Amino acid sequence: MSTTRIRKPRTEREYEEIIDELITQGYKIQNRGTASTKLIKASYGSVIAHIIIFVFLGWWTFLVANLIYLAYNYVSNSDEVLVKLTETTDRCPKCQAEILLQDVHCSNCGAKLK
Ligand SMILES: [Zn+2]
Repeated sequence: MSTTRIRKPRTEREYEEIIDELITQGYKIQNRGTASTKLIKASYGSVIAHIIIFVFLGWWTFLVANLIYLAYNYVSNSDEVLVKLTETTDRCPKCQAEILLQDVHCSNCGAKLK
């Protein structure tokens, strides 16, 4: 099965950087939002494996064997990454530690935030 990895940047800059980095690695954007973007890297199997399959099976199966191998790789080895921005735009008024917007208490000093 293909797996979905999740990356959690803490700032908008880091969010853009991770997306850029993944595109450089061959990922394509599947859907893009302001706080979360899904990228996918399709796998079609190795060229060498395709040649071997073609030599032994492809020429008499009219490439069906190659198509099956390609489909199998696409389904099981494609890689998905979800980049999800976790907002940390707020800071604790007492200790200045970064806090999540939904936090009720500071995770660093325990001060009440709301
Ligand atoms: Zn604090």
